[in-house]
Amino acid sequence: MMSGSDGYFDYNATTPLRLEARQAWLEACERWWQNPSSLYRAAGAAARVLEEERESLAEQLGVEPARIVFNSGATEGNNAIMAHVAASAGRVAFSAVEHPSLREAARRWLPHEATTELPVEATGLLDLTSLSTWLRQNSTASLVSLMAANNESGSLQPWREAADLCAEAGVSFHCDATQWIGKEPLQGLAQCSWITLSAHKFGGPKGVGALVLPAGEKRLRWLAGGPQEGGHRAGTENLPAICAMGAALRAAEAERPQAQTSQAAARDAFEAALLQAFPDLRLIGADSPRLWNTSLFVMPRHRNLKWLTRLSEVGYSVSTGSACSSGREGSSVVLHALGASDEELRRVMRVSGGWHTPAQAWLDLAAQFVETSAALDQGGGLRRIQLGG
Ligand code: PMP
Repeated sequence: MMSGSDGYFDYNATTPLRLEARQAWLEACERWWQNPSSLYRAAGAAARVLEEERESLAEQLGVEPARIVFNSGATEGNNAIMAHVAASAGRVAFSAVEHPSLREAARRWLPHEATTELPVEATGLLDLTSLSTWLRQNSTASLVSLMAANNESGSLQPWREAADLCAEAGVSFHCDATQWIGKEPLQGLAQCSWITLSAHKFGGPKGVGALVLPAGEKRLRWLAGGPQEGGHRAGTENLPAICAMGAALRAAEAERPQAQTSQAAARDAFEAALLQAFPDLRLIGADSPRLWNTSLFVMPRHRNLKWLTRLSEVGYSVSTGSACSSGREGSSVVLHALGASDEELRRVMRVSGGWHTPAQAWLDLAAQFVETSAALDQGGGLRRIQLGG
């Protein structure tokens, strides 16, 4: 029998809450429910826990605690950065494959002429030459934004190289590390001027995350109101969620090295099985470095929504692309940037596993694709295969 979340292959959309995170959330709700800004002793304890969580995250990222602003997640962080650049009449360059919360935020906050979309190569990775050219032509009031890992293809962008180029040019660099944190090593992130992240991508709750500011940044005034979060983001802090995020990241980091190796092997075995069954299947992004949990591919036949629906009927959760564009067939900017045709876009599937996905579940999913294919070819019913127990 498939149990619990074994059939869940949409970790890039969100992850189930880790046990450690749940416990930390409950403990904070019970023990530190007071407003951290209040002046009595119990509230002081809540304020201390809040600062401990700030220090813990700061230490993991290798930055000063004052650089951390807790918020509701990466969408909010990406919007705050774009609004901030707009307030100083700056210019922004970002890769063509950024998440909609970055691209749309740039469009929402900045005049069109202040934004530049930098092309990606056929591999989906940023073309660093075009970045260098842009840096030569733009001033220090500017910002470059590049995600660390792509949510659809899992491609690992050359963000360290981009950060170095920006540092040489004296231009701020923002890294949307939402899909990276919890899956790939945190070393080096401290060199980014700005970082955005969301807890629910590594086993924390939804609606909580952090924005890392450049050292000494005093001018960001994202939400007006009280003095919370250094005056950068007003509003009573969601301490239980912040504690749960901290617990989730510590747990994810503890098991990351092992998961990286074993899950990559399981994902590769899944792809090998799929390719054997469907020789015309096209893997995307597999030729360059990518996240160990992600597989993006174009099925040789049938629309992706048909595959998704049939797989869902037998307990598998997969995606036709990012959750932010799912349900809208063929809307993937990333795949267009990778040179996929409109017709191919309708056959794209994304499968993303977790830290504990059993190797057998990956193989079962591949076998279920084969079973589903027979059902789709014949237009008949679908048998739920049982492999390996
Ligand atoms: N950036 C990237 C790369 C993402 O994958 C996501 C979530 N899919 C976001 C930003 C937005 O995160 P959230 O929905 O938690 O605000």
